[in-house]
Amino acid sequence: MNSKYTDELVATAKAIVAPGKGILAADESTNTIGARFKKINLENNEENRRAYRELLIGTGSGVNEFIGGIILYEETLYQKMADGRLFTQVLKEQNIQIGIKVDKGVVPIPGTDGETSTQGLDGLAERCKKYYEAGARFAKWRAVLKIDLAKNCPSQLSIIENAHTLARYAAICQENGLVPIVEPEILMDGSHTVEQSAEVTEKVLAAVFKALNDHHILLEGALLKPNMVVNGTDCPTKATSEQIGKFTVRTLQRTVPPALTGVVFLSGGQTEIEATANLNAMNVLPNRPWALSFSYGRALQASVISTWKGDAANVDAARKVYLHRAKCNSLAQLGKYTG
Ligand code: 13P
Repeated sequence: MNSKYTDELVATAKAIVAPGKGILAADESTNTIGARFKKINLENNEENRRAYRELLIGTGSGVNEFIGGIILYEETLYQKMADGRLFTQVLKEQNIQIGIKVDKGVVPIPGTDGETSTQGLDGLAERCKKYYEAGARFAKWRAVLKIDLAKNCPSQLSIIENAHTLARYAAICQENGLVPIVEPEILMDGSHTVEQSAEVTEKVLAAVFKALNDHHILLEGALLKPNMVVNGTDCPTKATSEQIGKFTVRTLQRTVPPALTGVVFLSGGQTEIEATANLNAMNVLPNRPWALSFSYGRALQASVISTWKGDAANVDAARKVYLHRAKCNSLAQLGKYTG
């Protein structure tokens, strides 16, 4: 592709996954953050959402050694600290790249077994321009696929539809100066083995990179956000971190061109410790031409939220927990996490 933003896209992608850095995915939709708040009995209103995001964004204390980018939900992009500074200003001062979730959620694909397509392409170019003006430099779009081998899921239709939509989204982002995070999430739900997850993930990623090529995506200015190759949550045999690391890296080696700047995994329901250990297991293996890093939501925030409990008196303690998890994942990005 030939965008006026080419150099900037490459520089942004590299900055996000610089050695020891990854992404905090704090882009929960209003509904999703509501589910997280429910666990601490906190009302899901705008001020509580703002206060929680201020806790994360205002952490300072060197968190920017570990966090290269943070993904925000649209509401958060325009919110302010209690002292009146825009969140975006605080992030810019820390040299943390600002990301924005631009998809509008999933709808069923008719005629499939509840498989889904992601909405949000209409008006996307205009929204990207607006977000760039507000300081965003990267974007996220989540496609969701599921494994149910007895029902032939993911179907070829779901794979092709989601690959095509991700590629259209990525092209529109790059035209407008935003590094696209391409997220084809294959859910952990199901009884599939780690080997079966590897087979499906390989097929899905191959289709995604074919579509990215068809749509002239600049791979050096893009990031992939895949699931790790793990067994399904109902599978009786649990894969070890070493197995997960090997299967995941092998799958990427078979499907992801070395030109891509980085791969930033989602945590997808793994515990905080598992997500860190599994990332580390990949980063001790040979033949990794891309940065392998994190873009965790739950695995960076679960214990932060449960420490905070919606109480201002707990903000410092919750920030310490966030710093600790960010540091552990930073070490895992370098293959230096020892538990
Ligand atoms: P989890 O790490 O909680 O899976 O969230 C990452 C994300 O952004 C999913 O879209």
